[in-house]
Amino acid sequence: MIPLSFNYKKANSVDEALSMLTEDSKVLGGGHSLIPALKLRLNSVETLVDISKIDAIKGINDNEKSVTVGGGATHASIAANSALASAAPMMAEAAHTIGDIQVRNMGTIGGSIAHADPAADWPAVLLAADANVVIKNKDGQREVDIDQFFTGFYETALAEGEIITAIRIPKTGFNSNSVYEKFKQPASRFAIVGVAACGEMDGKTPKSLRIGITGLAERAFRPMEVEKALIGKELNEANIDAALGNIADGVSVMADHYASEKYRTHLAKVYTKRALLRLV
Ligand SMILES: Cc1cc2nc3c(=O)[nH]c(=O)nc-3n(C[C@H](O)[C@H](O)[C@H](O)COP(=O)(O)OP(=O)(O)OC[C@H]3O[C@@H](n4cnc5c(N)ncnc54)[C@H](O)[C@@H]3O)c2cc1C
Repeated sequence: MIPLSFNYKKANSVDEALSMLTEDSKVLGGGHSLIPALKLRLNSVETLVDISKIDAIKGINDNEKSVTVGGGATHASIAANSALASAAPMMAEAAHTIGDIQVRNMGTIGGSIAHADPAADWPAVLLAADANVVIKNKDGQREVDIDQFFTGFYETALAEGEIITAIRIPKTGFNSNSVYEKFKQPASRFAIVGVAACGEMDGKTPKSLRIGITGLAERAFRPMEVEKALIGKELNEANIDAALGNIADGVSVMADHYASEKYRTHLAKVYTKRALLRLV
């Protein structure tokens, strides 16, 4: 449980952090995924560039079109934010379920999506929210649509030397009616299966619907066939059950000592159904 030695640098601004980053360095956010990985020697690094004290990326800003969450915003600050609670209630719901108080006070949303653990909560929520990831590098800034961000098992569209400075959550009819349902690993509280769902409703029928699922496959994903089958149809048990047959289409379902492939797929159906019924 002792990491290989590394240098430590503390940055006071994003530009300073970018100038400190080299090929053999990594940024340190809340440290709640990176430090355990270093201690277990699953990862090693020459220099850690600490961005956890940069106030400019910790805030949550509300405007007419979106709520912009700083890449360094902690899970706890998201759980407590009133703008997000009305623009996208699933954000607060998900944040409350992450780990324990210490994890929520230290861990950040930017760190979580950069790490892209297949059982992490934010990837499912941000896919459902149609979020945009704001990324800075030495050449400037770029924005990546969340549908293009998660590329594989612990893999993202983030390049070396880049920092997630913000995540934009659009203010839409579907995000304001959104929920998160999760079957937790009892010790860590990571998702064995987590489902975020949002839909703009016309009575009991969704005019639009987005679903994000984590824990089931090697990366969080949207079950597009389920979304398509239910848009314009009343969200009742029969219609949902009929649509859920396609939930794992196109993904390779994970199996481990917590849950077999069959049990995980069953959980994904149960938790997606719960989430969809709550949208009504
Ligand atoms: C006991 C325990 C329980 C947990 N339970 C849950 C849970 O229930 N659900 C869940 O989703 N997660 C859970 N986590 C993970 C936790 O949410 C972490 O905080 C999160 O995964 C990583 O965020 P961080 O800020 O700590 O990142 P760090 O650990 O500091 O970094 C993780 C990776 O992201 C990179 N990085 C960090 N910040 C940025 C940035 N702004 N831009 C670019 N790259 C960046 C780092 O270089 C590193 O590669 C748990 C962790 C622990 C220790």
